[in-house]
Amino acid sequence: MSELHSTLSGIGVSAGVAVGPLVIVSPPPSPPAGEAVVTDVAAASEQVRDTLKAVAEGYLAKAANADAHAKPILEAGAMMAGDPGLAGAIDTQLQSGTKGITTAVSAAVDEYCAMFESLGGYMAERVTDLRDVRDRTVARLLGQAEPGVPTLTTPSVLAAVDLAPAETATLSVDTCLGIITSAGGPTSHTAILAAQLGIPAIVQATGILDVPFGTTVALDGGVGEIIVNPSEAEQQALADRKARREKALAAGSGKGMTRDGHPVQLLANIGTVGDAHKAAAQDVEGAGLFRSEFLFLDRDTAPTVEEQTATYTEILQAFGDRKVVVRTLDAGADKPLAFADLGHEENPALGRRGIRLGAVRTDLLDDQLQALANAHKATGGQLWVMAPMIATRQEARWFAEKVRAVGLPKVGVMIEVPAAALRSFDVLSEVDFASLGTNDLGQYTMAADRMQGELAELLNPWQPALLDVIYYACDGGAKTGHPVGVCGESGGDPLMALVLAGLGVASLSMAPSKVRAVRTALALHDLSQCQQMAAAARASVGPKEAREVVLSMADPIMLDLL
Ligand code: PEP
Ligand code: MG
Repeated sequence: MSELHSTLSGIGVSAGVAVGPLVIVSPPPSPPAGEAVVTDVAAASEQVRDTLKAVAEGYLAKAANADAHAKPILEAGAMMAGDPGLAGAIDTQLQSGTKGITTAVSAAVDEYCAMFESLGGYMAERVTDLRDVRDRTVARLLGQAEPGVPTLTTPSVLAAVDLAPAETATLSVDTCLGIITSAGGPTSHTAILAAQLGIPAIVQATGILDVPFGTTVALDGGVGEIIVNPSEAEQQALADRKARREKALAAGSGKGMTRDGHPVQLLANIGTVGDAHKAAAQDVEGAGLFRSEFLFLDRDTAPTVEEQTATYTEILQAFGDRKVVVRTLDAGADKPLAFADLGHEENPALGRRGIRLGAVRTDLLDDQLQALANAHKATGGQLWVMAPMIATRQEARWFAEKVRAVGLPKVGVMIEVPAAALRSFDVLSEVDFASLGTNDLGQYTMAADRMQGELAELLNPWQPALLDVIYYACDGGAKTGHPVGVCGESGGDPLMALVLAGLGVASLSMAPSKVRAVRTALALHDLSQCQQMAAAARASVGPKEAREVVLSMADPIMLDLL
């Protein structure tokens, strides 16, 4: 065994095991200290323009092979790099006669970023993209490789502080064996997209960036463990685990149910038309969450009714007679839409987002509902429509009236605000169904920003307080006879799925790559066992204890499914 052998741990966010050489995503370069001041401004200006052009072309080349998630983000990067205003701002810095070429680029971008940040909302969000343009330009001017994910020529395990959504979305399962980040959280975009791609992934892995480039690492994305320089025996143990997992997963197909036949629908989370086609081709019972705002993240203008009708029609057609749950635009906070910006807010996650924004921009909501009604009429598909961020019975009623007025057959709400969970009998009395958004429900129950990797412990979906809140939500479902599902990330954890089934959820919606393990887990246990697990988890003192007690009550095969 090598003397560098060690074990690191993090939070497993996408199950599966991988062994391969480590490739660390290069950090962004900084302008060198004491860089020579530019004397030939015209030549430097031309060099900057050529470099920006090359950066823009780099984005477009990536965009050409990217999927629908990544394409608009990469194209936006190309547009920013090609913005004559940016080149002009760099010229101004060069003309100051006090700066080197990369220092001038940095200073100009910093100025731009400050301006964007002061505008707030969508514009402020673009600062990350602009900094990416800066880093690529500076690297090229210094004769270095562009930062970010390199083109992987041999299958490798990728490590980074965190990955931008576009970077994660462009990865290929053939060359990217696994993803390890030192930051990020279980509901970060890296985690969601890695699961969507079916790549094993671990976040919050402290120390991974100190491991030398090219070192062999083994990772277990379910358990959250990384072995640096694994021994032959350890590699074999992981390979055995992988084989056992595959065998267990291959055994099941079809509808989700417990061993004694209690049904729990298994559904897919989707965000684009491409996702819909991919998910519909798999063994899922429908789509439990279509994040409709994902279609428009990089749009400056609102989509028309016609355009939306065509999109929703295609998605409904993809699923045929299987159900599709569409969430109306959840704009704001971590998902800002340029055309739905209500201006700067101190605390956007607690501000006018989701249905609160829909109540101000009724034009957007009405157009979307009309398009959904058109698509439903055109296809006769099983369309269920739900609103994000419902907090009160009044909001639920207001939304339900709107949905029913356009002739849509099933209306529901997301329960992701504790108030709605505690009063779920009231809320569910107004609508036909609810879906628990455990990502936000966790964030609001624990008052912990879901984007803060450092707060992962509070955001752990095994927090007994969150399980209590889910219990109350399900209780309202049982009393009204209206189904309550789960569409947050926790529904895709096979062990948590047992607890959720025990709490009474009727469906679980997740990245399609997670469905097989959840199906297998359910099929190994009776409903009464799931109920006992739910009670034991709720009676635990903390998230770690809750998970451990459930694991101790579960079939031993579960160890291979995680
Ligand atoms: C959630 O909050 O759990 C959810 C499913 O919605 P999103 O992650 O899109 O906010
Ligand atoms: Mg949410």
